[in-house]
Amino acid sequence: MLESGFLDEIFISIQGEGIFCGARQVFIRFALCNLKCAYCDTAASRELKDSFFAFQKKKLRNPVVVSEIIKQVKACRGKVHSVSLTGGEPLVQGAFAVSLARALKRSGFKVYLETNGTLEKALKKILPYTDHVAMDIKLPSTAKVNGLWKKHAGFLKAAGKKAFVKIVVGDGFSVPELRKALRLCKNIKTVIQPRFGADIPGLLKKIEKSGVLDTASDIRFVPQIHRFMGIK
Ligand code: SF4
Repeated sequence: MLESGFLDEIFISIQGEGIFCGARQVFIRFALCNLKCAYCDTAASRELKDSFFAFQKKKLRNPVVVSEIIKQVKACRGKVHSVSLTGGEPLVQGAFAVSLARALKRSGFKVYLETNGTLEKALKKILPYTDHVAMDIKLPSTAKVNGLWKKHAGFLKAAGKKAFVKIVVGDGFSVPELRKALRLCKNIKTVIQPRFGADIPGLLKKIEKSGVLDTASDIRFVPQIHRFMGIK
């Protein structure tokens, strides 16, 4: 097990996406990502920093050891819904993510993994120490990344009942792609999330008109609420 890795930030906030919208979480933001989505607004996905801040006050050096992270977050036990491993893409540093998730579980936290749904091998290793998997399905027409359908399908199957899915749609998204994504999500809670800055009423109208919402009952349409609250 790799006991150290590169982080970008540790902070506490309100989850603004997905089916746990509104839940208070500790966010552990991992550095690096294996994708380059057109709408990515996370500098952490591209850079490795020498140091980072925990809760905006404690400066820590990278690579940081798991025991130091636990020391920083343990005061939050019993005060948050869960700890979100986010990024970047946490599974890019797979062995480190597994060590951290295991240590968090041993410390009494629920672990919530936010992932782009492409690194199935790494998922299988972290899954025993994970309570919730918030997985993205990337529509090529919005994310501008291609060739992920097979990876998403395998990942979703491996994640099983722990997974819910988030699909970001932007202006100009493709209805056939959204339909294809929803077919992958049969019997899985799914959130269609309008891209920040997009024409939300226009997107909803296009989605309603397309009939894709009739294909399953467990679909929600939810924008990123943290953007409206002015928090990160
Ligand atoms: S998967 Fe997430 S972190 Fe990675 S490039 Fe896409 S939006 Fe950014």
